[in-house]
Amino acid sequence: MAAKIDLHCHSTISDGLLSPHDLVAHAANSGVKVLALTDHDDISGLVSAREAAPQHGIQFINGVEISATWKKRTLHIVGLKIDSENLALKAALDKVRIGRDERAQEMAIGLARVGIHGAYEGAKAIAKQSIITRSHFAQFLVQSGHAKDVRSVFKKYLVKGKPGFVDHQWMSLEEAVRLIRASGGSAVIAHPGRYDLGTINMLLLMHEFRSYGGAAIEVVTGSHTPPQYQQFAKIAHRFSLKCSIGSDYHGTGLSYMAMGCVPELPAGCVPVWDDWQEAQYLV
Ligand code: AMP
Ligand code: MN
Ligand code: MN
Ligand code: MN
Repeated sequence: MAAKIDLHCHSTISDGLLSPHDLVAHAANSGVKVLALTDHDDISGLVSAREAAPQHGIQFINGVEISATWKKRTLHIVGLKIDSENLALKAALDKVRIGRDERAQEMAIGLARVGIHGAYEGAKAIAKQSIITRSHFAQFLVQSGHAKDVRSVFKKYLVKGKPGFVDHQWMSLEEAVRLIRASGGSAVIAHPGRYDLGTINMLLLMHEFRSYGGAAIEVVTGSHTPPQYQQFAKIAHRFSLKCSIGSDYHGTGLSYMAMGCVPELPAGCVPVWDDWQEAQYLV
């Protein structure tokens, strides 16, 4: 049976296709009852999503997906139940967004070297008011005929070693967890199976994350295979971390998993929402 809770998705505030309001409506139509919006490095969609929630019968949870650097790798740390008015969090995310813009300009320089011109302007036009991400570059490159789809465009241009990749320095893991906790939230490692860390570094990451006061890891996500659900359920148990689930929905054609289709947590997992009033009737 599909879970009725979805704690990871994106709107037009970052690289999703639906506005915060439309995303809430879409979640409700897909059978979701408890929803967190977790845009990349931006919390400005939370107010309108929260406003839309009651009319759609959704219990809304404030969220964010913060980009962090750990051992020269980019990790995504989801913050749940954060205070959307927290000044320190807002200021830190403002800084991340400035860094994103600089990174985007560097990405465009790399792409120009292989003959693709105007990528910054092209990606910016697709991003409109929202933060600029590799997803927007991917869409620009597909639309301008440089690759057939978003998946292949990443492989060809946007990952490490390719012309559009920039090794960007995000905030530290410790800082991301600290900001989330200081704003009243719970820190969750997003899609741990995607980082290609190797066993030792994966265990080291869990240990370090726990020592900073990290609360949970995503066990069921659109980025994991069913065997990985079991693998990360075990790791969570070993490190006394709670477990989260989320589709990582970005919109049709971009998402890893459709909303309302996310499997439940494996037996024995302690849900990150086990003491949340909003999710009381789900436990
Ligand atoms: P950024 O935070 O700017 O590096 O952009 C990362 C975003 O690009 C992710 O959140 C995904 O939405 C998307 N993305 C990353 N890797 C891939 C991939 N291999 N295929 C499709 N989308 C991807
Ligand atoms: Mn994304
Ligand atoms: Mn992510
Ligand atoms: Mn995400």
